[in-house]
Amino acid sequence: MTSLDQMLSAYGELAVKVGVNLQPGQRLFILGPLGNGGVSLDAAPLVRAVAERAYRAGASYVEAIWGDEALQLIRFRHAPRESFDRFSQWLPDALVRHAEEGHACLSIYANDPDLLKSEPPEVVGAVQQAVSRQVRPFRELLSRNQTNWSVIAAPSQAWGDVVFADRPATDRIPLLWDAIVRMCRLDRPDPVAAWEAHLGALAARRDFLNQRRYSALTYRGPGTDLTLGLPMGHLWMAGRAMSVAGHPFAPNLPTEEVFTMPHKDRVDGLVTATKPLSYGGTLIDGFSLRFERGRVVQVHAAKGQSMLQQLVDTDEGAARLGEVALVPHSSPISQSGVLFYNTLFDENAASHVALGSAYRFTMEDGEAMDADAFERAGGNRSATHVDFMIGSGALDIDGVREDGTPEPLMRQGEWASPAS
Ligand code: ZN
Ligand code: ZN
Repeated sequence: MTSLDQMLSAYGELAVKVGVNLQPGQRLFILGPLGNGGVSLDAAPLVRAVAERAYRAGASYVEAIWGDEALQLIRFRHAPRESFDRFSQWLPDALVRHAEEGHACLSIYANDPDLLKSEPPEVVGAVQQAVSRQVRPFRELLSRNQTNWSVIAAPSQAWGDVVFADRPATDRIPLLWDAIVRMCRLDRPDPVAAWEAHLGALAARRDFLNQRRYSALTYRGPGTDLTLGLPMGHLWMAGRAMSVAGHPFAPNLPTEEVFTMPHKDRVDGLVTATKPLSYGGTLIDGFSLRFERGRVVQVHAAKGQSMLQQLVDTDEGAARLGEVALVPHSSPISQSGVLFYNTLFDENAASHVALGSAYRFTMEDGEAMDADAFERAGGNRSATHVDFMIGSGALDIDGVREDGTPEPLMRQGEWASPAS
């Protein structure tokens, strides 16, 4: 990349063409994480680059709503205690109307992962609950792909201060840009073409796994000896989704994972995490979990053991797995070796599993099942969903066929065979 302008315009083009895949005549609404609604002012240069690219792609109207984290902090420090369940209904109403009318949405993360670290947990909790209640209808529209939408990230000083705390303050935004450029393949001669090829390869891998119908995966690596059952009717997913109107889009950029649900009662053995987990403002590191018949029976952490135990004890489903995802060790996010304190990047850094709820769409007819049927089929339910990384260059994974025959799936962290 030769200049910031070129980088912004390549990133804007990628968000418009591959992320939301904006259609001529569509409106585009740019927002930030739903907690404070608006996109951070730090992302203004990218928002403008996206808007320009969107109009060139035929957008009829591009709008952004801004959110200022400093203003959010002032509220936490000075607003009356009993006011934290207040939330303006006009924003979720506008978002629902926008999505129902089939217009596109782009969310840009450029936030401070530590913003609320020092605020009283009960106040943070009250605000989070008020927000999730109010935005649930919009979230549900998106999860049913009512319209084309995407989530990307932009560098901000506060985010860089957390990720690159050991580097000089003035280097942190350039370092985040470097990371985003590599992970979003903006350094390729034609980033849009590079993503078409990458998303095509992910789809081929997804189709291969769906056609193999493995009954289980077995993992072997340092500190890991795990058998993870897959339920009948599990569906592998990757990369791209399809909107109700029939337009493919990429909900997350970057994306590296192929994922499905494990059987909530058929996980046995020991698994050791290969990267630290940032949870509830604490870093859990050097940890492993032992499973018996799907349930965590023992946890050990060199750092953050009580937080890990709290996570597992959240509810019955928090002690079981709801997601299994495969990511090759050679993926650009894994190679960066950086902890981003942001799911968009960290979840794509390595093969992982998640404690807690399973996605309904990773099971055939899962969205039509009632709660009991979903659980009987092996789907896990919980109020939480927390991913942790178990992949490395030393991990071997076999797929076990329905007749019990194992076949090599990943060797030393890489796909063992081409997807064909
Ligand atoms: Zn995942
Ligand atoms: Zn996940």
